[in-house]
Amino acid sequence: MTPSIHDSVLNLKGVGKASAEQLQKLGIGTIEQLIDTFPYRHEDFRLKNLAETPHNERVTIEGRVESEPSVLFLGKNRSRMQVRLLAGNHLIKAVFFNQHYLKDRMSIGATITVTGKWDRGRQVINVSNFNMGPKADQADFEPVYSLKNVMHQKTFRKYMRQALDLCVNEMEDALPVSLREAYMLPAIGEALEMVHFPKSPVDVKQARRRFVYEELLEFQLKMIYLKNKRKEDERGTQIDYDLDRLKAFISSLPFELTGAQKRVVNELCAEMKSPVRMNRLLQGDVGSGKTVVAAIALFGAITASFQGALMAPTEILAEQHADSLSEWLEPFGVTIAFLSGSTKSKTRKIILEQLSKGEIDLIIGTHALIQPDVEFAKLGLVITDEQHRFGVEQRRVLREKGLSPDVLFMTATPIPRTLAITAFGEMDVSILDEMPAGRKKIETYWLKEDSLLPVLQKMEKELQAGRQSYVICPLIEESDKLDVQNAVDVHAQLTAHFAGRYTVGLMHGRLLPAEKDEIMRDFSDGKIDCLVSTTVVEVGVNVPNATFMLIYDATRFGLAQLHQLRGRVGRGADQSYCVLLADPKNEEGKERMQSMTETNDGFLLAEKDLELRGAGDFFGRKQSGMPEFKMADLVHDFRALETARKDAEDMLASTAFWTEDAYAKLRTNLKKSGALSQERID
Ligand code: ADP
Ligand code: MG
Repeated sequence: MTPSIHDSVLNLKGVGKASAEQLQKLGIGTIEQLIDTFPYRHEDFRLKNLAETPHNERVTIEGRVESEPSVLFLGKNRSRMQVRLLAGNHLIKAVFFNQHYLKDRMSIGATITVTGKWDRGRQVINVSNFNMGPKADQADFEPVYSLKNVMHQKTFRKYMRQALDLCVNEMEDALPVSLREAYMLPAIGEALEMVHFPKSPVDVKQARRRFVYEELLEFQLKMIYLKNKRKEDERGTQIDYDLDRLKAFISSLPFELTGAQKRVVNELCAEMKSPVRMNRLLQGDVGSGKTVVAAIALFGAITASFQGALMAPTEILAEQHADSLSEWLEPFGVTIAFLSGSTKSKTRKIILEQLSKGEIDLIIGTHALIQPDVEFAKLGLVITDEQHRFGVEQRRVLREKGLSPDVLFMTATPIPRTLAITAFGEMDVSILDEMPAGRKKIETYWLKEDSLLPVLQKMEKELQAGRQSYVICPLIEESDKLDVQNAVDVHAQLTAHFAGRYTVGLMHGRLLPAEKDEIMRDFSDGKIDCLVSTTVVEVGVNVPNATFMLIYDATRFGLAQLHQLRGRVGRGADQSYCVLLADPKNEEGKERMQSMTETNDGFLLAEKDLELRGAGDFFGRKQSGMPEFKMADLVHDFRALETARKDAEDMLASTAFWTEDAYAKLRTNLKKSGALSQERID
């Protein structure tokens, strides 16, 4: 009986227990899983004309053996074998390393095919791949799979060939015919053949187009589906805020809101008032004034007799928020409490009790807010600052403490539009794209690493004027491998340099949270003049008196991160400076440094970063919750992404699509693609 795609790979000829186990190591158990394992590249074995092949280029030729192979043994299992081949009218030498066992198969007059680097001067091919027969026996393109050394490519290809021959007709096409035809995409069976065993580079390209589109479409369907589902969900919280009190509060602020802040406040208010559950991302560059927007929304919830929660990733940030919000909101009769890991247990007990009785309107804190014993009387709105530092799980726990509170995530990491609609496709997005008036642009300079002395003189000038400075280093301690400045060394050097004049502090990720907070507080209180730090200082900290930042080895940071770091200065009324020390080795590095000196606009820099480094590196590893695609590349396939987004919207809007059948199929496909199992928010 013919096996089905859902059967085990054991049904394939030649796959025994041992090979099945090896395949299992690659996550392949069924024939379908085998077929779904795509090659990451293809080897090109098309014949080339030697006369037209440049020196050192890889080439495949077919040739007739013209001499007995000569073998030179080079020690244990190592050998060099040389044979003369006539390829067309070229008489060349082919050199094989450690393959003298082939000797007997190369009798004079035999035709063989070899691939390798062409040494034009010496007329030698250094063979990396061979076929003891004519080219006709070998495919023009061979897939190369990521097999982690568990199995030979050749064996894997043999299984793949069989699997496709047996089962390809059974594969269901998840793409509606109408879309396939509209974009001229190959059907599933054809596309699988093209990706595994292409006849030409065009095949690979066509297959790729299809799979990229399919992947993005499924992803967008899932995102929009989740978004629609949330909007239909009646269980959301309706927050009927008191408009007059809200207006009174806004006019009490020491500044006028920017246009962007007004717009975002309106967006938030409209959504709070509706019964739809808010699940919104507020993006705003460092210094764009997110905190006050959060305060307004929280006050709105409080005027409607709900409680609010504001959560920050570090104690010091939470404290800063508590300070600002107390100053603004306490005059309006709002009761505010602060809760963190270092809150004394007696105080904590009292706070928890008041919170559960509804005697506290607003709680501000760290992860301590989401401990199991923290209960709210009537939680209406939860805001988290710097959302990417919080795990999905933590957000869920916090949200489940109320009925279905509205949730707002704030982030200062500017995310290019492409990534925003992808990573946060199921959320609504508000953007603060305007800086409060009167902000001075941070003057940014890029200098070679040997110009440290004048930089230190400039820094000292700022310190003399009573200002403070940051010095950022990529690593904590000296490392043999990387020649980068490290915080410990730099701290020692600067301590010596400024001895008797200025205090130099040291901050890095290996310190305990309490130690970090203490150092940050000393810096904030002006007890430390110059703070040497790794990137732990990155998020949110506000020390307006700091006006100078020096960043060592700036090429080691991404643009988005450099921008975040730079945002620690320029927070007060005084002119601030940022100096990047960097000797970039390539054009990309130079371009990054150049961009930093040219603009203070985080969104522009983010776009640039994405363009220069690709989506994978954009957020740094794993931290982001960014979806991982099998084929699609968010930068390269930007257009496909937008098209897929639109098609997904149309599909979900059309009732014709929503037959039971189509729906079931969509779900199956989504499940298969892993899209549903990695739901990010719910
Ligand atoms: P971020 O968006 O980086 O969190 P903050 O909320 O910390 O920015 O705001 C940065 C500074 O700008 C704060 O001192 C804040 O009080 C001030 N600020 C916020 N909005 C305005 C405004 N509309 N006009 C003037 N200053 C403002
Ligand atoms: Mg902030």
